[in-house]
Amino acid sequence: MSTFDGWLPQAARYDSPNFDTRPDPADITLLVIHNVSLPAGCFGGPHVSDLFTGRIDYNADPSFADLRGLKVSSHFLVRRDGRVIQYVSANERAWHAGVSSFRGREKCNDYSIGIELEGSDVVPFEAAQYEALVALTLALQQHYPLTDVQGHEHIAPGRKTDPGPLFNWEYYRKLLNKKAAAEPALVNAIAGLRVVKGLPQSQ
Ligand SMILES: [Zn+2]
Repeated sequence: MSTFDGWLPQAARYDSPNFDTRPDPADITLLVIHNVSLPAGCFGGPHVSDLFTGRIDYNADPSFADLRGLKVSSHFLVRRDGRVIQYVSANERAWHAGVSSFRGREKCNDYSIGIELEGSDVVPFEAAQYEALVALTLALQQHYPLTDVQGHEHIAPGRKTDPGPLFNWEYYRKLLNKKAAAEPALVNAIAGLRVVKGLPQSQ
């Protein structure tokens, strides 16, 4: 059992109350990529962190009325400038995926780590966000036996659309391989990580 507490030192820590224990703490194999912004399409505000930490002001925007009673979180948020915030220890179960399934296994929250990119389905992501996402992926890969990276849209098709068509899976994968190549210890780990845009149900 690793002694890693699940908190990455390079991330700013904002503790969320929205988490619980994983059914099998050793089973953390999937990385789930999301996008999020509150209000939708508005970047830079405090509302995503406020939502994940249970202190959102529902009156700050008319659209927030829909969020009442919603208890959600994610492990990480990558802001537009590449700064990373962590809300839940990666050892614990954050509440980001909802009703979901990957390779026939439901409840992806049980065995996944959630990374939110501040953004939307209709605005390209920033270079700094890809850089931060790659650094985060490599850091997590050193602590957990990750085998796959998927988008929320791929594990909850028909229900979710993020990270959306403007998330560049090819660029992410290439940057990941490039950074890993610079550190020999990481090459094998990354070679075993499947970064693809969705998977056929049969796989
Ligand atoms: Zn999502």
